[in-house]
Amino acid sequence: MIFGAHMPTRGGVPFALREGHRIGCGVVQLFAKNNLQWTGQPYSEEVITEFAKERATGAFAAVFAHTGYLINLGAPGGPNRQKSVDSLIHELQLAESLALPFIVLHPGSHLGKGETRGLRAIVEGLDEVIDATASSPVRIALENTAGQGSSLGGQLAHLSELFHRVRKPERLGLCFDTAHFFEAGHPIHTPEGWNQIMSEADKAIGLNYVLAFHLNDSKTPFGSKVDRHAGIGEGHLGLEAFRHIVNDPRFKHVPGCLETPKSADLHEDVENMARLRSLL
Ligand SMILES: [Zn+2]
Ligand SMILES: [Zn+2]
Repeated sequence: MIFGAHMPTRGGVPFALREGHRIGCGVVQLFAKNNLQWTGQPYSEEVITEFAKERATGAFAAVFAHTGYLINLGAPGGPNRQKSVDSLIHELQLAESLALPFIVLHPGSHLGKGETRGLRAIVEGLDEVIDATASSPVRIALENTAGQGSSLGGQLAHLSELFHRVRKPERLGLCFDTAHFFEAGHPIHTPEGWNQIMSEADKAIGLNYVLAFHLNDSKTPFGSKVDRHAGIGEGHLGLEAFRHIVNDPRFKHVPGCLETPKSADLHEDVENMARLRSLL
């Protein structure tokens, strides 16, 4: 696995790459726009040029985005339905202008309408977004979730259904979050549990669709369905769990990105990356 972390974008997206370079990230995840707003502005030519320059300086194996937190494709007919579709289209356009290969998306929450209707709403939303960006090379990496509340994607069956029902699954990918697996009740802290879920994912979807991992420990216990990230080895997953994960030969060249608590100087990211590298 190639290690890196989610980098802050204070002062714009090039800042994220400068910070990633400074602390030794091999991969960087960033928000392409304010993650608590529906839309942002397109980037100026200056920003796009500066971003490309920083990217070449840092020589990152991968740079990708995480979509904003307001988007929810899973609520059929809700007031934010169209806003979610438009926001995701906007995110794809921003990612394309920065030459990012994919953006990470939480599938969505059904908000009480039930799993069946929720999954159908996500399929329809993804189809609409993919049609509206038909010429875009940017893929949407669906992230597994902790299964909190009415959120979908805590079970592999949900992700598999989305892949099988969307008209152009080639525009999709997967982003697997270790804390979310554990919190959703998948025993990935043992090598057997890890291999089990990976072989299920391979059969149901195909591991070639895995575009990234989120490497997070969990502040909450196994099966809690509560999503709280902890530093590597500082949570209920524990350091040893990451040994079989980061050494899995199937994912040698796949990004492994931290989304763990950090302060402004990012020293926790430096420590967490060192811990992960010590396991290799
Ligand atoms: Zn996420
Ligand atoms: Zn994540």
